[in-house]
Formats: sequence, C-alpha cells, structure tokens
Amino acid sequence: MATAPPSRSRDLDKLLLRPGHLVVPNFEPGPELRDDIKEYVKVLVVGAGGLGCELLKDLALSGFQNLDVIDMDRIEVTNLNRQFLFRLEDVGKPKAEVAAKRVMERVSGVNITSHFCRIEDKPLDFYSDFSIIVLGLDSIEARSYINAIACGFLEYDSDDNPREETVKPMVDGGTEGFKGHARIIVPGMTPCFECTIWLFPPQVKFPLCTLAETPRTAAHCIEYAHLIKWDEVHSGKTFDPDNPEHMQWVYSEALKRAELFGIQGVTYSLTQGVVKNIIPAIASTNAIISAACALETLKMVSGCSRTLSNYLTYNGVEGLHTKVTEFVRDKDCLVCGPGVLIELDTSITLRKFIDLLEGHPGLLLSRVSVTHRGKNLYMQAPPVLEEMTRSNLDLPLFDLMDKVPKDIVHVNGMAGKGDKKQSCLRKLRVVFKGIDVVAVEDMVLGASF
Ligand SMILES: [Zn+2]
Repeated sequence: MATAPPSRSRDLDKLLLRPGHLVVPNFEPGPELRDDIKEYVKVLVVGAGGLGCELLKDLALSGFQNLDVIDMDRIEVTNLNRQFLFRLEDVGKPKAEVAAKRVMERVSGVNITSHFCRIEDKPLDFYSDFSIIVLGLDSIEARSYINAIACGFLEYDSDDNPREETVKPMVDGGTEGFKGHARIIVPGMTPCFECTIWLFPPQVKFPLCTLAETPRTAAHCIEYAHLIKWDEVHSGKTFDPDNPEHMQWVYSEALKRAELFGIQGVTYSLTQGVVKNIIPAIASTNAIISAACALETLKMVSGCSRTLSNYLTYNGVEGLHTKVTEFVRDKDCLVCGPGVLIELDTSITLRKFIDLLEGHPGLLLSRVSVTHRGKNLYMQAPPVLEEMTRSNLDLPLFDLMDKVPKDIVHVNGMAGKGDKKQSCLRKLRVVFKGIDVVAVEDMVLGASF
C-alpha cells in the first residue's frame, strides 16, 4: 500500500503551526491561521514581468490562494529568457492573463484573477479590497502611484496616530541587472515610497565636455555620436531610438570616434544599450528579490516572524553582498502624513477649491479630480463622468461634503512644473472655518453607538 504523500504545506507548517523566538507579540500559531491565510487573505501583485512572474509563483507556493495580478503589457519575444511563465506561442498576449493561467495550471487550489489594464484605470475601491499589495515594477512613476493609493487609505486619529484598520501594507521589490532591493512599506509606521524618493537619483549623464574632449570609454564615444554629432549633422531632425537607421548611424559614428581615440568595445548592441539606457535583466536577481518579497508578505500577514526593518539591498555584481537599512519616515511627507491641511470658508465652490490647489505652493496640482468618501465630486475623465460631475463645480464644497466640518478629500491630478509633471494622488485634510469641530465630532460619535 502506498504511503500518503507528504503535505504540500509541510514547510509552511513549520512557520505557522508553532511558536518561536522571532514571532510578533500577538502571534497565534495553529491550523486556523494557515486556513485563514488561504481563505481570507487577498494579495494584489502589481506587474507580471520578470519579478511579477516570480512573485505569483512564490506566493502561490507559500499558501496564498486568493491572488490578483495587474499589468498593462503584452508578452514580447525578448521577455522569454526570464519571464518563465511565458512561451513562444504566448507572444502578443497580455502578460497578466497568461501568468495567472500558468500558475493556476501548476499550483492546485490557487485562484488568480488577472487585470489587463493600466493601474490608473482601476477605481480606488479596487485597491482597498486587498489585505496587502506586492509590487514587481520597474518604474518609479508606477510605484509612486500605488504608494499614494495605499497611503491614501490611511486615516489618523485626533492625536495624529494612524488608525490600524486603515493601514494598507505594501511589499516592494525591484531589480536592475545584478542589483536589487526588497522593502516593506507600512503606511504611517515605516517610510513610504515618497519619504525616500531620493533613493532614486536622476539618471547619471556624462558631462558634455568629457564627451567632446576626453572620451575614455566606449560609452563616451556612443554618447558623443548620439548627443553631439547627431545634432551637428542632422540639424532639426529628432533622433528616434526605435529607428534602426538612426541607431546604425550613431553606431558607425561612435566607431569612428573610438578609433580616433584608440578606444575598444563599441558594438551595435552596446550602442543600443547606452542610447536606450537598457540595463540587462538577470533572472537570478529576480528570483532572489521575489523570494524575499514573498517571505515578507507571509510574515506581514501571519505574524510568524518580525518583518524586515525595513529595506534590504542585494548586490551580486562582485561576489554577493546583502544589507538591511532602517530608513526613517519623513514626518512632513505629503503622501503618508496626515495630509495637507487646507482651511476653507463654507461658501467656497468646488471650482474655486480646484483653482486653489493649482496655486498651492506645496501641491502645484493641475487637471484635478476630486473624491470624497468614495463619491466623485468632480472627474476630469472619462468624458461621461466629467459631464455627470460638471454641475458640481458651482456648488459649495461644504454642501458637497454633506456639511462635515473636517474630513479627508482625495484629489487626483498632475503634479509638478513644466515637462516634469506626473500623475499623482494627494490626500488633503479639509477644515471649514467657523464650525465647531469638537461639538460635531461628539455628535457623530454619539450617533454611531
Ligand atoms: Zn511618506
């Protein structure tokens, strides 16, 4: 007679069914915990690329059964070397859909819902549904956007302490060649993405004088051909990195320059890499970072161990080096703080309020949409919603907010100046002048009991 196969959750059980030195204070080990994670915890994975594929597989194998994945991209041939859930016949299909299908085929019991769209296309309550959000993204803008959404759910009590039930935790992974990071973001407790935005310095560019006078590397020669020589020869014509003829021209000019200075190493693919700023993606880095992220996710929802505090870096360029750094919150952060305080007269209209946000020095918002407690007060897009909400513009904001003297309002728009604008979400604390806040708060509290 055959013996029963070992339980698939054998390793997981070691973490969830027994106590240990590293568990969080209110950790209650037992089969209920394991079953609750299966049944009730909903995880959103943002991105189904190199990291996303790994994350879905790791989370499914870690006992999570309710997963969602969102990604706007379609599969390309060049993804196949590392985005291991995809096959040649999948090229052209949405990444999210194929990734979800493949993991469900391989891991029984797991349920993955895919969303083939932009993260901005989902309403806020889509995101509020998840217990935890795991990010496998390669763009700063997308991270910033999700961070603002998760932090937007955070509410503070009257002593400015975060209300625990409004905390939406995130785990963020990122890789670049042989380097990577995994971090946890618990809004209101650990620094959010925006608190430490300086960790992503602007792209390093070579000084033009080096390119023009003293090139020392193949990259210098390529950038010379790309940034200086192109404009000299093609006055007014914009360089198009996706045009093979343009790239070929830069390559041959870079070669000539390299010969002149006796520099080796200019190739066509290096030319593409330098001009398009391509950093090769490494499958093993994705696997390591994803494993760290999946483990942090499990720790965060189960309490079976204390989490990272709070930022792990991995460097596999020469040998291997990992380190954890505890970053601190920016207490004036516009995103995870209690929100920018805006004091208004009760007579101010929604239109005037929106104008005020455009001129506010700390916000500089344009194309503003306004939401209050899930209700759209004014939406810039789509046109149907714009038309439906347009009549609100001339109504007093105080009335639109049901005459609540003090509340959180979410605004969505473009922030920044000139061509540096990017879409963002901001939380504002709107307070109406001349209303007795304390008396009304007591009244509201009284009513809820
Ligand atoms: Zn912050």
